[in-house]
Amino acid sequence: MALRLDGKQLAAQLEVRLQLQIQKGMAAAGRSPGLAVLRIGDDPASAVYVRNKEKACARIGVESFGSHLPAHASQQEVLTAIRQLNADERVDGILLQLPLPEGLDETPLLAEIDPNKDADGLHTLNLGRLLKGEQGPRSCTPAGVMVMLRDQGIDPAGKRAVVVGRSILVGQPMALMLQAANATVTVAHSRTQDLKSITRQAEILVVAAGRPEMIGADHITPGCVVVDVGIHRRPEGGLCGDVRAEELEPIAAALSPVPGGVGPMTVTMLLVNTVVAWCRRHQVALELSDLVV
Ligand code: NDP
Repeated sequence: MALRLDGKQLAAQLEVRLQLQIQKGMAAAGRSPGLAVLRIGDDPASAVYVRNKEKACARIGVESFGSHLPAHASQQEVLTAIRQLNADERVDGILLQLPLPEGLDETPLLAEIDPNKDADGLHTLNLGRLLKGEQGPRSCTPAGVMVMLRDQGIDPAGKRAVVVGRSILVGQPMALMLQAANATVTVAHSRTQDLKSITRQAEILVVAAGRPEMIGADHITPGCVVVDVGIHRRPEGGLCGDVRAEELEPIAAALSPVPGGVGPMTVTMLLVNTVVAWCRRHQVALELSDLVV
């Protein structure tokens, strides 16, 4: 039976550490860390995500600076809101909640965020820093995967890793992080021929294809560590990932569940990015180095 990569439990443990780090740094910093989530429009799913992030902030002592602009906000109004948050001394992390309403161009807006306050780690400069192995906030989902693996003593060094998916949000930074951890990495995508022959070579398989239950027992070699990033709502209710968990559980060495695997770690890494930025700005001794991927 596969070891359960329990992201929910690990996220709860990490929240305790983040809380302690904040308490220890308060005297030197003179204020709590601050995260600003900028939401435009009324997408109901985004409202739920933002509320969850704000609740997580409240649990550990990060101040939330929620900013909500109407769906008809202009590009210039959003730019101005971002610039105000860049200049706000109380804010250590900024997140622009995607997707944006139609008519707004996300690329120049994301580029406007101060790279050192880029809580999502998706600014072009921070992706470049990841590529070059330089310090900077890392993309939350793949960083959360790396922390989950490390927590279970799964060292990618020397292993054959396969990442299914090459998005800027997940697949690409995931491949770079695994490579930085000395895995030998193959990236598969929608044009990959004979996917099974590639995924069967994996000792660590990360699936971020956004295709419900596409990976089954015949895609892996028994003993593989499988991380399922995908998250989908089943038409009949409930959630599933990109892998057929019931097929993989008996043969994989480890498997992340959906829900309760990568999802909770993504939110936690947002908090890590914010608290680490706060520590660096105020020269607070960092006790979270093992979470900095
Ligand atoms: P994208 O749709 O942006 O990217 C999907 C990637 O998978 C693309 O590179 C695509 O290839 C590739 N792909 C699609 N179909 C196949 C296929 N049949 N075989 C091989 N590769 C394929 O998705 P994201 O990266 O944003 O997200 C992936 C999944 O992860 C989604 O289910 C999303 O909901 C989930 N997610 C979960 C998070 C969490 O916290 N748990 C956070 C972020 C995402 P190509 O480039 O050729 O199109």
